Amino acid sequence: MSGGKLALLSLVALVLILSLWQTAALTRRAALAELRESGQQELSRYVLHLQGQLEKYEFLPGVLATNRSLVELLKSPGDRELNNSLNRYLEVLNRITGASDTYLMDAGGLTIAASNWLSERPFVGRNFSYRPYFKEAMQGRLGRYFALGTTSNKRGYYFAYPVWSDKEILGAVVVKINMAPIERSWADSGAELIVTDPDGVIFITTHPQWRFKTLSPLPDVVHERIRENRRYGDAELTNLAVSFTETLMEGARIMQGGDGLSTKYLVLEKAMPQAGWKVHIIKRLEQIDAQVAQATLFVAIFMIVVLLLIFIWLQRRRRLAEHSQFEKQAKHTLETRVREQTRDITDANIRLTREIEQHRRTERELQRTQNELIQSAKLAVIGQMSTGITHELNQPLAAIRSYADNARALFRRGRGEELEWNLAQISELTERMAQIGSQLKLFARKTSGQSTSVSVEAVVDDSLRLLDSRIRKSGTDVLVNLREKGPLYVTADMVRLEQVLVNLIGNALHAMEQVEKPKIYIDGAPDLAEGTIKISIRDKGPGIPEELIERIFDPFFTTKEEGRGLGLGLSISQRIIEALDGALTADNHPDGGAIFILTLPTSASPED
Ligand code: ADP
Repeated sequence: MSGGKLALLSLVALVLILSLWQTAALTRRAALAELRESGQQELSRYVLHLQGQLEKYEFLPGVLATNRSLVELLKSPGDRELNNSLNRYLEVLNRITGASDTYLMDAGGLTIAASNWLSERPFVGRNFSYRPYFKEAMQGRLGRYFALGTTSNKRGYYFAYPVWSDKEILGAVVVKINMAPIERSWADSGAELIVTDPDGVIFITTHPQWRFKTLSPLPDVVHERIRENRRYGDAELTNLAVSFTETLMEGARIMQGGDGLSTKYLVLEKAMPQAGWKVHIIKRLEQIDAQVAQATLFVAIFMIVVLLLIFIWLQRRRRLAEHSQFEKQAKHTLETRVREQTRDITDANIRLTREIEQHRRTERELQRTQNELIQSAKLAVIGQMSTGITHELNQPLAAIRSYADNARALFRRGRGEELEWNLAQISELTERMAQIGSQLKLFARKTSGQSTSVSVEAVVDDSLRLLDSRIRKSGTDVLVNLREKGPLYVTADMVRLEQVLVNLIGNALHAMEQVEKPKIYIDGAPDLAEGTIKISIRDKGPGIPEELIERIFDPFFTTKEEGRGLGLGLSISQRIIEALDGALTADNHPDGGAIFILTLPTSASPED
């Protein structure tokens, strides 16, 4: 992974953590605020309830103090009857008001009449001068106090009022309220509440085990004072193992401990200045923790989903970008290649056109040259044949001369019959001479170049006739075998084929000049599979040296002595045959002598 990617990942992780942390904090704050608000409303209701409970009794001792019988009893405490009647009065009154106890104390703190005068542990005869409410009342004020009853062992709130007689305080009348029913009604409502005194001692609470515990350790002096007042009897007033970890605002704190070490509470407090109390409502934070966890989890899932979507989107975009880049590149490459190839093709086309043009020109020239060559080769052959021809013509000429001489003598002698015979001989001889001439003319003519169906036998015959004098002079035996499988016809130009044959037979005659019994075999046979006819010309000469076989078809290759050959015969013959869609090859026969094989396409006979 690259450094950049690692940094980005760390950043994303950091943002994620920060967001979750922020979510948790915000959710907690909002939930706490909500809880605090509802808690405060609840707390106000409980404080009002408590205050109402107290106020109900607040004026009672003041009203009672105006009762004359109280003053009278205080003035004459020994009056038994008065005492009993007051005891009864207080008992009835106490029942009606619903107070815990109502009683009268003299100036020394001794209880002289009480509503519980008939109970097992009556207050009558007991001295409560140490109680602050008594002291306050004796100073002419409404005394208020709360404490654990030393006799009843019940937690009570005390209201005490002085009993006046002519500006003299004779004693105090006290109304005690039991706190337990209030506490019970709170517990029944499901709320968690504690009420602490100014020293922080828990006095009323819905958690019975927290009763008479302190929220913070008490200094020794305070301990001492409380013991002196006997406010909480023998209670030990140990510290409740709690700590306040956070103050949200005035009167709203987070408390930890209590039931379990990790239990957390939101504690809201409200002071009751008149009673000197602080009422606390306690709200457990477990619910908030669950809410925070839920919100955080939700946000985490949401963020992960968003991140995943972003990741997928980025991947997709990158792939698309790569793809389009690839496509662009491919398109560009393709276009370049097409352009290059088009250019190459155009170039090649131009070159080809030029070459074709060149080729055509060369071919035309070649054709012309070839035609000229063929013609000159023919003339060369004619030149070669001229000796024979001269000989051929000389003979009839000599004969004609002697016949003419004879004819003149016969004419002079008047021998008409013999004369006619002589003239007929002359005529015949001239015909023969004309024939020789016409054959030569035929051979020397330029061809039309048209291929037709040609009889092999006829061409061979014509060629042999042209060479007749040479053959006879050399005493060569010519063995022609062309009809074995019926007449043979090839597709060829007759004049050219004749030229080739004259060449080949002429070469054979030349090769056998030193041979004693010269022989030429001319064979022909069809190759049905190939659709060709093969004509072979074989001689009994020395054959062709192996190393020369390849070269004899080259133009101007000759082994003949000066003036007898141009070395063009075979090369021209081969060209002629190839132009007729055939082939001309040379070889040596196993029995000695050279053999030339002509292959030509078969043709149907012209009659067919
Ligand atoms: P030229 O006859 O003018 O020499 P050719 O092209 O006809 O030209 O022949 C080339 C050469 O091929 C001859 O010089 C000769 O050496 C050889 N050749 C041709 N025909 C024969 C043959 N029948 N036997 C032996 N050699 C031959």
